[in-house]
Amino acid sequence: MDFEIPGELALFVDGVRQFRERELMPLEPDFLRAGRFTSEQRSTLENRARQQGFWALDVPADHGGQGLGTLGTCLVAEELYKHPAMFEFGGSPEPVLYEGTPEQKERYLYPIIKEEKRCCYAFTEPSGGSDVAAMRTTAVREGDNWVINGTKTFISHAERADFVILFATTDRTLGARGVTCFLVDTGTPGFTLSRPIPTMGDDWEPYELTFDHCVVPDANRLGPTGGGWALANDQLTHGRLKIAAYQLGIAQRCVEIAVDWARNRVTWGRPIASRQAIQWMLADSVTELEAARWLVYHAAWLADEGHPIKTEAFKAKLYATEMAQRVTDRCLQILGGMGYSKELPIQSFYRQVRVWRIGHGTAEIHRWMIARDLLGISARH
Ligand SMILES: Cc1cc2nc3c(=O)[nH]c(=O)nc-3n(C[C@H](O)[C@H](O)[C@H](O)COP(=O)(O)OP(=O)(O)OC[C@H]3O[C@@H](n4cnc5c(N)ncnc54)[C@H](O)[C@@H]3O)c2cc1C
Repeated sequence: MDFEIPGELALFVDGVRQFRERELMPLEPDFLRAGRFTSEQRSTLENRARQQGFWALDVPADHGGQGLGTLGTCLVAEELYKHPAMFEFGGSPEPVLYEGTPEQKERYLYPIIKEEKRCCYAFTEPSGGSDVAAMRTTAVREGDNWVINGTKTFISHAERADFVILFATTDRTLGARGVTCFLVDTGTPGFTLSRPIPTMGDDWEPYELTFDHCVVPDANRLGPTGGGWALANDQLTHGRLKIAAYQLGIAQRCVEIAVDWARNRVTWGRPIASRQAIQWMLADSVTELEAARWLVYHAAWLADEGHPIKTEAFKAKLYATEMAQRVTDRCLQILGGMGYSKELPIQSFYRQVRVWRIGHGTAEIHRWMIARDLLGISARH
């Protein structure tokens, strides 16, 4: 059976392409010069997107959203990431919030869908992000409350968050099974944004967060005590596939720029496109891009068919992020000095893609998990 994007979905994604070309692309020179959008530019874009119906796309219809599904969500992410600003449509909650009680959904899930609140996701600690069993932030039960102490680091979007989806250990003797998830309002006494962490990515400054005797009611525990790692795992799988889809947009845009450049740049009387050294870089890039696209679309399709995709998401993100690193590097090389200049987006993409081999699990941990699944061995071996 031939694979094709369903017609209605293809039409929708074409609308996203038009939004990108009409609203985002004219701002690209500004973005590249400043390395960020101003808050006015970002909120204008968010408002325009919403006016044009681009909002709560991946939210199921019974929660008031558009129920786009996993393949649709990946196609939209691919399209938007052809612009280096990492702009995304609003009203899209972290998946763990669907696991809340009816009361938690009223206070946290629906306000995110309606864009009345924002949140951040705090897992990583200064002592490490990969080894969940070594988590040091503690939550200790006192009556109807939990008292939280510890430090989280590299937390994206913390400066704009109304609440934190926080993972803390409630029983260190149980390792990953002793981790619990809490929803912590950012105004809670004992919570501070301790410092921003400048990074090599444009417009991306995560924060360190401190919890010092921060008291949270048991009503703010999300899921069962000790059930945090299972929740985080599902969430991370969803995020990994979306990250893999970003790489498709990034690589596609870089290849398009490089092809155009190669056809027009003349050296020794001929366009560089006629040189085999350049042709091979382009041929390798489109081949790897297409391979990554199949991994992403196949995993998305499996998810929409109701199959578990944990390993498929590891494979898609591992391959796509390493593919994007190679493709952005080759395309930058094809453009020579202009590839390195801030007049074109390739240098921004080149820096951006580096983080995706680290965030949401590193490439090394992905390889380990894929091998573990293949060999049928447990985490302790
Ligand atoms: C820009 C940015 C934004 C981020 N946003 C968030 C966020 O919003 N929320 C959040 O919780 N975190 C966030 N992170 C953190 C990110 O998820 C972690 O950096 C990542 O999980 C890796 O953890 P670590 O940096 O502590 O590296 P470590 O876990 O200390 O690993 C260091 C190195 O050792 C390797 N390694 C570790 N264990 C093994 C092993 N068993 N076998 C082989 N190799 C191994 C790793 O692959 C890595 O190369 C962000 C990071 C960045 C850079």
